[in-house]
Amino acid sequence: MGFKSAALSFSVQAECKTSRARAGIMKLPHYEVRTPVFMPVGTQGTMKGLLPDQLESLDCEIILGNTYHLGNRPGTEVLKKAGGLHKFMGWNRALLTDSGGFQMVSLLKLAEITEEGVKFRSPYDDSEIMLTPEKSIEIQNCIGADIIMQLDDVVQTTFQDYDRIKEATERTSRWLDRCLRAHRKPTEQSIFPIVQGLLNSDLRTQSAREHMTKEVNGFAIGGLSGGEAKDDFWPMVKLGTGILDNNRPRYLMGVGLAIDLVVCVALGVDMFDCVFPTRTARFGCALINTGQLNLKQQKYETDLNPIDRDCSCSTCKNYTRSYLHCIVTVETVACHLISVHNIAFQMRLMRTMRENIEKGTFPQFVHKFVNDLYPDGNYPNWVVNSLNSVGINIYKK
Ligand SMILES: [Zn+2]
Repeated sequence: MGFKSAALSFSVQAECKTSRARAGIMKLPHYEVRTPVFMPVGTQGTMKGLLPDQLESLDCEIILGNTYHLGNRPGTEVLKKAGGLHKFMGWNRALLTDSGGFQMVSLLKLAEITEEGVKFRSPYDDSEIMLTPEKSIEIQNCIGADIIMQLDDVVQTTFQDYDRIKEATERTSRWLDRCLRAHRKPTEQSIFPIVQGLLNSDLRTQSAREHMTKEVNGFAIGGLSGGEAKDDFWPMVKLGTGILDNNRPRYLMGVGLAIDLVVCVALGVDMFDCVFPTRTARFGCALINTGQLNLKQQKYETDLNPIDRDCSCSTCKNYTRSYLHCIVTVETVACHLISVHNIAFQMRLMRTMRENIEKGTFPQFVHKFVNDLYPDGNYPNWVVNSLNSVGINIYKK
């Protein structure tokens, strides 16, 4: 089972016999990526990410770059001269860029969306800029990522106005056609359409079905993880993976909490991205199997254990909780050290899921994971319901 094209080939190596989880290999121009995969955000204007060689040694095979920031600084001319972002930032593996639209709408209060595109005021020189689907693809062609995203009409997830959600969903389909027409490098880069429709299952079904009729190499599920209730979130993911092609990769945007990753892999998602692991590091929080350690807490002052005894990252090998506690509020290096661990945590979680899917033991893995996270057996309803819906039956103790 799989899919082949010049810019992307995907082969499913193993499927879970119970749930929709699958392990695959996605062959991209710059690297072969094993799925399910978590993509750390490698370039971000507001916070320093990790260095490319650190991401490589943490076993990251694909990272995400923000078009909005890159389009402004260094700007497309510099990127063109540098020969694309891979060369510019010294990253030789696979890369995905977003369309720039989401960043704009979420960062800039002045963004105005019309049929033409997203109009906003540049935070750098106050000039008026119009990001059209064509412009977004032009910038992304210039950046040169292996996977690029269509510009979509973004509505806040918890928004209630049906007419506006319908308009945004249908406009996203029209903008997809404009993006595909504007694409200059179809043999080197794959445009992923974005399924919209927020929490309305009819609109989401319509959006996914329309995208299925296009010649694309993979799909994204967007408009979720924006503050909606978990009970509303997972059925929309399941609806998406149920309609979107089994032969092509499916990417759920903006999801990165460990329990969400486990549930959504069970629901059939192959790719994820989220700023959460590095953002939470900034607040002194380290990710572990049983949740998070807030290293700012006084109790870690004398704790000479590493963050996680079973973690082989450079932070856990070299530093204690006590040391991290001492520097956590005063040194940016603490944020960096915790980020290294948090990305290592995400990578290990994805690797463990892949191995268990391949061995045919994914449901057992899920049981153990959920048990470690909620040792009192008081599992959240949404976790029980979502996993049950794909045949992994867990019960509250
Ligand atoms: Zn670690």
